[in-house]
Amino acid sequence: MNALTPHPMLSAAAGAFIASPHKMLIGGEWRNAVSGATIDVEDPCTGKVIAKVPAAETADIDLAVAAARQALDGPWSKMTGLERGKLISRFASRLEELADEMAEIEAIDCGKPVTYARYVDVGLSATTYHYMAGWASKISGETVGVSAPGEFHAFTLREPVGVVAQIVPWNFPLVLTAYKLAPSLAAGCTAIIKPAELTPLSTLRLAQIAEEVGFPPGVINVVTGYGATAGAALAEHPGVDKIAFTGSTDVGKAVARAATGNLKRVTLELGGKAPMIVFPDADLDKAIPGLAGAIFFHQGQVCTAGTRLFVHKSIHDRVVEGIAAEAKKLVVGHGLEQATTMGPLISGRQRERVLGYIDEGRKAGAEFVCGGKSYGESGYFLEPTVLAGTNSSMSVVKEEIFGPVLCAMAFDDDDMETLAHKANESDFGLSASIWTRDLSTAHKMARRIKAGSVWINMHHFFDPALPFGGYKQSGWGREQGAEAIRTFTEVKSVCAAL
Ligand code: NAD
Repeated sequence: MNALTPHPMLSAAAGAFIASPHKMLIGGEWRNAVSGATIDVEDPCTGKVIAKVPAAETADIDLAVAAARQALDGPWSKMTGLERGKLISRFASRLEELADEMAEIEAIDCGKPVTYARYVDVGLSATTYHYMAGWASKISGETVGVSAPGEFHAFTLREPVGVVAQIVPWNFPLVLTAYKLAPSLAAGCTAIIKPAELTPLSTLRLAQIAEEVGFPPGVINVVTGYGATAGAALAEHPGVDKIAFTGSTDVGKAVARAATGNLKRVTLELGGKAPMIVFPDADLDKAIPGLAGAIFFHQGQVCTAGTRLFVHKSIHDRVVEGIAAEAKKLVVGHGLEQATTMGPLISGRQRERVLGYIDEGRKAGAEFVCGGKSYGESGYFLEPTVLAGTNSSMSVVKEEIFGPVLCAMAFDDDDMETLAHKANESDFGLSASIWTRDLSTAHKMARRIKAGSVWINMHHFFDPALPFGGYKQSGWGREQGAEAIRTFTEVKSVCAAL
């Protein structure tokens, strides 16, 4: 296969899109970067270049911010919430109609199984737009009884926060864009989306759909570029009112610092190191596949991946061996093959990083139950890996690996507080899961866990109605649900003397 030749397994529609020249959508115009520079986009299953996209820099970001501002001050602000909602619904429905094509684009760009991309990436994105379309006509303030003596009419208004920059990582481009774009449109904001440089393709196709369904020019802008240039220019731009960022904790901190120039509103969805706590009474027939899915889904490149397994001593071996057996059942291959259930890591660099952690685990004395090596003649494949006998002083347990590496630790008859303390012993606090048949144990533990999402007898459950975000260094604010609408609005108090 030559560079820029569509993969033979792609449908005609997805192949034609990927092979077409790619431009950015700014103010209703399709543009190359001002500098003319481009970025090569690889298929991580083969390491081959499949497309080139513009490499936006400061000059392009200036254009996008000006376009988003103009649209905010133009017809978009005159539309009613109901009209905005109808447009968002149309967008969601069109995304559903194009689900097969979108799933293929996402699968080849991210290295994920196309069946999962169809259900998770496209499915959850479309559901999020549908859900947020309903919010567009239901955003309102409240009347307030003031404490001052006299007669007053006091109320609050909720207004769009303004021009919103949306910076997205490479693991779930469509979903994590939907988490930001859907509520921001519902709230009446305008958007500049910057997908990750590794996975820009589905977002560029999304921009075509936005144009097709009739969003006014400048309401949705997409700029492709590197983080250190395009991303940083957005984070510090004085014309951006809010930045919604998903990515690593270190970059999130840099974005927060850059945003102080004009005191932008900032929401951050950052890294995680989720604990999974398995009590001796858990239904292991359900728990074992659930735990395996929690760590191996999308090769562990998931911020909510279940990476620290706390399992009661009495069932430790059965659970750990069971997860290793589940790992062996995974069908590793190209994401476009229907049978594939596990793809490669996103890049050679990411695989080196994960292998580095595995090596540190080996040196620190972790026991290898399965995996630990890269394989395949091309692409960035890595064996699903289970490490036992780990402890909280090891880097594999403390740091976010972002790969298919599970760290198992046995607990004895710890009380609830001791166990919660172990699970909470992390700088992160994004998600956790608890596995038990005892309702009281489950809910007592859920209250003690310091994380934004706690799942009981399941892991990785996402719904547009459920707020999602992190405690501690996993982030600021929440996406999804009514919480998301709040973060894309400003509150104005109005008070009249009567
Ligand atoms: P990353 O932080 O390297 O990049 C994320 C995005 O930020 C990319 O678009 C990148 O171009 C941009 N960026 C990079 N440097 C920038 C800068 N200086 N200023 C502005 N933007 C910049 O993260 P990644 O490697 O793409 O993604 C993996 C990370 O994302 C993991 O840490 C993972 O946990 C996290 N993540 C979190 C969530 C969540 O919802 N909490 C979801 C998915 C991924």
